[in-house]
Amino acid sequence: MSGFVKIGRWEICTLEGGGLHLDGGAMFGSVPRVVWEGCIPPDDQHRIPLATRLLLLKDSESDRIAVIDAGVGDKEDPSFRDRFAIWLPEGHSEPPLWSAIRSAGVDPDTVTDLVITHLHFDHVGGATQRNDAGESVPVLPNAKHWVQQRNWDTALSPNPREKASYLRENVEPLEDTLLERIDGPGEIFPGVSVEEVHGHTLGMQTVRIEGGGKVVRYLADLAPTLHHLRAAWTMGYDIHALKVVEEKQALLKSASQEEALLVLEHDPVNSWAKVVHQNGRFKAEPVQPEYDSSSSAQSPSLEEPL
Ligand SMILES: [Zn+2]
Repeated sequence: MSGFVKIGRWEICTLEGGGLHLDGGAMFGSVPRVVWEGCIPPDDQHRIPLATRLLLLKDSESDRIAVIDAGVGDKEDPSFRDRFAIWLPEGHSEPPLWSAIRSAGVDPDTVTDLVITHLHFDHVGGATQRNDAGESVPVLPNAKHWVQQRNWDTALSPNPREKASYLRENVEPLEDTLLERIDGPGEIFPGVSVEEVHGHTLGMQTVRIEGGGKVVRYLADLAPTLHHLRAAWTMGYDIHALKVVEEKQALLKSASQEEALLVLEHDPVNSWAKVVHQNGRFKAEPVQPEYDSSSSAQSPSLEEPL
């Protein structure tokens, strides 16, 4: 937990939902290892550590409390946990998503909404847990779960390329919640809207919070780390690399114009970033909001040619 940021009527804070390790080469696509290993050093299995950083939003004008994404969770077997070297929030004897929510001083029972950017296991696995019978069941059964219809359809019949990322036990139990399948962009709460992008996977939604002259954007896998805030740095996991490039070019332009605070879901060090346009280039840099005393801001600036 890193402290609350006030955006209009919303108080928001990042939550550390644990993390995992993924192959560095897969995370950096066509970027050569000699370049990316200086950004996030790999372990002896060529994997890099990645956070699963969530966002909590409290509405000061209603009882609404929303969480964006759910982390990887603890349902999978030891071999799966070992393969991805998963780590979870400290001292949990309850669903990791609950521990993450509690770290912000919020009772998980009071969460009214869970916005799921997309149904890849590292974003939605934490929305479910195993019950005593070994079945996968929702951990926030009374919350409304927001997902894009296109992504829902993709998750239930994934292509061979993404099949290992869309696990049925993460998706089907959500039918038992207040499931809201939405079709494209739009406002979901006052001042909070979703935008749909398709280059990483079909129907991923990013989230935008706007108020009091400020903008926060939760980017999910459009730019998972600070280093991916360069248009050409796509991931091997992205299904349409050139589409990601286009989507990211639009992001860099608008984020610099509106001086948006960007939330980095997977960056192991940096929670927040901003993009500035200087000397004909987009430059991404870590930022530490004034009300956010614990986030780290150590990485060097990056430059993205126009
Ligand atoms: Zn993903």
